[in-house]
Amino acid sequence: MDATAQASVGVLKGVGPQLAEKLEGLGISTVADLLFHLPLRYQDRTRLAAIGELRPGTEALIAGRIEVSGVRYGRRRSLMTVISDDTGRLTMRQFHFSATQARGLNRGGFIQCYGEVRAGPAGLEMVHPEYRVLGGLQDVTVETALTPVYPTTEGIGQRRWRDLTDQALGLCAGGIPELLSEACAAEFSDLALSEALLLLHRPSPEVDLETLRDGAHPAQRRLAFEEMLAHHLALRQRRQRRGAQTATPIPPSAELWPKLQEQLGFALTGAQQHSVAEIVTDMGKAQPSLRLLQGDVGCGKTVVAAAAVLAAVEAGQQAVVMAPTELLAEQHLGVLGRWFAPLGMQPVWLSGRMGQRERKAVCAQLASGEAKIAVGTHALFQDDVAYQRLGLVVVDEQHRFGVAQRLALRDKGQTDQHVPHQLIMSATPIPRSLTMVMYADMDISVIDEMPPGRQPVETVVLPNTRREAVQERIREACARERRAYWVCPLIEDSDALAVQAASSRAEALKAELPELRIALLHGRIPPAEKDQIMEAFRSGKVDVLVATTVIEVGVDVPEASLMVIENAERLGLSQLHQLRGRVGRGDRQSVCVLMYQGPLGSTAKERLATLRQTSDGFAIAQKDLELRGPGELLGTRQSGAPQFRIADLARDRALLPAVQRAATALLRDQPEQVVPLVARWLRAGLAFSHA
Ligand code: ADP
Ligand code: MG
Repeated sequence: MDATAQASVGVLKGVGPQLAEKLEGLGISTVADLLFHLPLRYQDRTRLAAIGELRPGTEALIAGRIEVSGVRYGRRRSLMTVISDDTGRLTMRQFHFSATQARGLNRGGFIQCYGEVRAGPAGLEMVHPEYRVLGGLQDVTVETALTPVYPTTEGIGQRRWRDLTDQALGLCAGGIPELLSEACAAEFSDLALSEALLLLHRPSPEVDLETLRDGAHPAQRRLAFEEMLAHHLALRQRRQRRGAQTATPIPPSAELWPKLQEQLGFALTGAQQHSVAEIVTDMGKAQPSLRLLQGDVGCGKTVVAAAAVLAAVEAGQQAVVMAPTELLAEQHLGVLGRWFAPLGMQPVWLSGRMGQRERKAVCAQLASGEAKIAVGTHALFQDDVAYQRLGLVVVDEQHRFGVAQRLALRDKGQTDQHVPHQLIMSATPIPRSLTMVMYADMDISVIDEMPPGRQPVETVVLPNTRREAVQERIREACARERRAYWVCPLIEDSDALAVQAASSRAEALKAELPELRIALLHGRIPPAEKDQIMEAFRSGKVDVLVATTVIEVGVDVPEASLMVIENAERLGLSQLHQLRGRVGRGDRQSVCVLMYQGPLGSTAKERLATLRQTSDGFAIAQKDLELRGPGELLGTRQSGAPQFRIADLARDRALLPAVQRAATALLRDQPEQVVPLVARWLRAGLAFSHA
C-alpha cells in the first residue's frame, strides 16, 4: 500500500493528540482507515424542495419568506416561525433559542432551512432545523454533492468528518490496493475499490439518493461484499487457530449415557441421536471442538447436552452447564439432578446469590475435582472459581451471553496444553445461508424434529378491542385447571414502561377475574421473589402469570396451555415465536392469542400472518430475516454483535453464497491477501465472534 495511506492520522491538518486519541477509539489510526469509515447515510442539499410537495418523515432543504415569528407559551415555551414559498407554508419550531436568535427572525425576512419534515398540530413543521437567515432568496446556497453523514462519537462533528475524509481522499484515494481477486470483484460490479470509496464518501448529485438509501448502489454492494468476506475470513482464521490447539480427547460414554437412556422414559428422536453422534465425535478429537446445537424451543436439547456431559465425566473430566438466568439455570439443575441421581451423581450449583460460605465450599469441590458437574449462571467463571480438569463447557441460549463472558469461562479450563470442548445451545433458528458464512468458526448440529405427541399450538390474532373475550377464554381455561401467561411487551424501548403496563394489566385482571389467582413477574422483581412466583405458577398455586418479556427464555411449565401477548405488533417474529414456545409443551391443546393495536402496518400484518400459518422455527427465522434483519438472529441486542460498516446481512443476504465461494478461492489462490483484508475491515480485532 502506498506510504501516505499507511501514515498515521496525525499527518492530517487539524489532527492533534486529542483528536487522534478519539479516532483511535473508533479504530481509526491511519489515513487509509478514514477511507473505510463510511457514511451512515446522506442528506440532499443539492436542490431546494417546494414546501407544497414535502412529505413528513423526509429531510429537505427549503427556502422562503418569514410570515410570522414569535414565542409561544404553551406547555413548553417555543419559538414558532411560519415560513412560506409559492407552494405552501411550514412552521419552524425551536424549544431552545436565544433572545438574539428570536430577534433575528423577522416577519418579511428570508430564510433557508434543512431538516426533517414532520406533521405537526398546525400542518408541516421542522423542529430545530439547521437554518440561515438570508438577505433575499437569491442568496440561497445549495450544495453541489450529496452530504455524507458519518457515524461519530462525542466531540467529533460532521463538519470535522467531512474535512478529515476530504484530506484522506485527496492524499490517497488511488493508493488503496485491491485485495479481492479480479474474478470475485468482477462478480459484483466493475467498480474499482478506490472508485467505490470515492463515490460513497462524495456522491455526485446524479447519484440516486433512494438507491443509496436502499444500499443498492453497485459501490455499496461492492464494499458490502468485501466487508462480509473479511468477517467470514476472520471466522475461518479462528477456526484454523483452534485446530492448532490441543484438547483432551473424550471418548463416547460407554456406561453412564446408555444407563441414562434406559431410564429416560422416552426414546430420542432421530435428530437428537444424530446430534449426539456429531457432538461426541467432535469431543473424541484432540483439538477443542466448538459446536452450535440449534433447535426450536421444546425440541429436547437438554438431553443431548446430558449425553456430552456424561461422556466428559466418564472420561474423568469436569463439565459445566451455564445458563443466562437463574431461572433457567435452576431448571437445568432440577432436570439434570433428577436424571443423574440414579447414576450416583449430583451436579453442584453456583450462582451469584449464594452465601459466601456455601460458595467457598462449592469452589473447593470444583478445584479439587471432587465435583464433576457444575450448573449455574455466569457465576461459574468468577475469579475465585478454578477447575481441576474442565473438559466441557455447555452454554445454553448462547445469544443471551456476551461473547466475553463465554470466553472467560472457556479460559478457566484452558492451560497451555488443554482447551475445553464447547457446546453452545440456541433455540434461535438461523437460516443456513447465514450460518455458513457468519458462524463459520463453529460446527453446527440441528435438531429439526419435535418429540412425538406434541400438539401444535393454535394461534389466534385479535385486535386489543377484543380483550374481554380473551379474558373470558382465560376464565374458562383456568376453570378446567389450565394455566395462562399474559405478556405485556416493551413499549417504546422502555423497561420502566413495560413494567408499568404489566403491573396495571395485572391489577385490571385481578379486578375483572376475581376468582383467579393472578401473579406479576418482571425484571425488576428481586431474583428470590421471582423464583417463588415462578414456582407458584409451576406448581399450580397461580393461574395466570402476567409478565413482561422476561419469560421469553427457556421457562418450562408443561401445564401452561394459554399464551396471551398484548401489543404483539411491537415484537419481532423470532421473539413472538419464542414466547409462543412457552406453551404447547404438555399433551394438551394449547392456544396462543396475539393481540394487536390497530391499524397494522404491512410488515406487522405479515409477521402476525406468518405466525398464524407456521410453527416451523426455521421458516419463521427466514421470514424474520427478510422482514427485519438479522439483529435478533445473531444476538445483536446483547454484546457480541457483528458491527458492520456497510453490509446489512438481511439486505445483502443474496451475496452470502458468493462470499463463501470467494473466501474459498482467496484462501486457495492468494492466502497472503487474507490478513490485510481482515485488518482493513475489522480494525479493532474481530468485533463479533463466537469463539
Ligand atoms: P429445549 O430444546 O427447548 O431446551 P428441553 O430439553 O427442555 O427443550 O425439552 C423439552 C421437553 O421435552 C422436556 O420435558 C424433555 O424431557 C422432553 N423431551 C426431550 N426429548 C424428548 C423425546 N425424544 N421424547 C419425548 N420427550 C422429550
Ligand atoms: Mg432449553
